[in-house]
Amino acid sequence: MYDVKGNLHKVLNSLPECVRLVAVSKYHPDEFVMAAYEEGQRMFGESHEQELRRKVQSLPKDIQWHFIGHLQTNKVKYIVPYIDMIEAVDSLKLLREIEKQAAKHNRKVKVLLELHIAEEATKYGLTLDACRELLADGEWRDMKHVQICGLMMMASFTDNEAQIASEFKTASEFFDEMKKTYFAADDSFCERSWGMSDDYQIAVQHESTIVRIGTTIFGPRIY
Ligand SMILES: *Cc1c(COP(=O)(O)O)cnc(C)c1O
Repeated sequence: MYDVKGNLHKVLNSLPECVRLVAVSKYHPDEFVMAAYEEGQRMFGESHEQELRRKVQSLPKDIQWHFIGHLQTNKVKYIVPYIDMIEAVDSLKLLREIEKQAAKHNRKVKVLLELHIAEEATKYGLTLDACRELLADGEWRDMKHVQICGLMMMASFTDNEAQIASEFKTASEFFDEMKKTYFAADDSFCERSWGMSDDYQIAVQHESTIVRIGTTIFGPRIY
């Protein structure tokens, strides 16, 4: 078996103390999750509703599941009962649906707003202007079952480290702007989720508080 435990500790040892790890277990079997769990890892990331549902049923109940993929509105109702954080909220419509479903379960669900900063046209997420508009609009303030905890983004898929660094810097500066404008009095708006296997060492130099790492811990995914 892949040396999940060894890899996990290497990653954890390379992270600054203030940065938390979401171990991205999508497409990996339960045994891999358990190997990391046995070493104390509790935050895991998944991006497909059905796979997550299966894992939630078979794996320990104290795992904090982060939904990190693109979430369709019609899937919200399935994950809201147990999800710890929905990381990739990229529309008001999705936010409204989370509020609606979370209210039914009398839960307050933590979310991050996903930014689109990378150059790829295919990536999801809010442009900086769309994110500004969403927050300026203010409807979110009345949502009692949604807690906006910060921002999430993915950098461009490129070897150009300067470009990656510049995208993380943009995200970090934008976080500061949103914090100051809308969340100055709200301590729970504090998370900056950026950094994956190939770029997390750059991300942590740009104020990342959460890194989402799969391949470096669990090996290549078999789709
Ligand atoms: C799959 C995925 C990751 C993990 O990617 P690795 O390169 O395997 O570390 C991180 N974030 C998101 C949004 C993902 O979909």
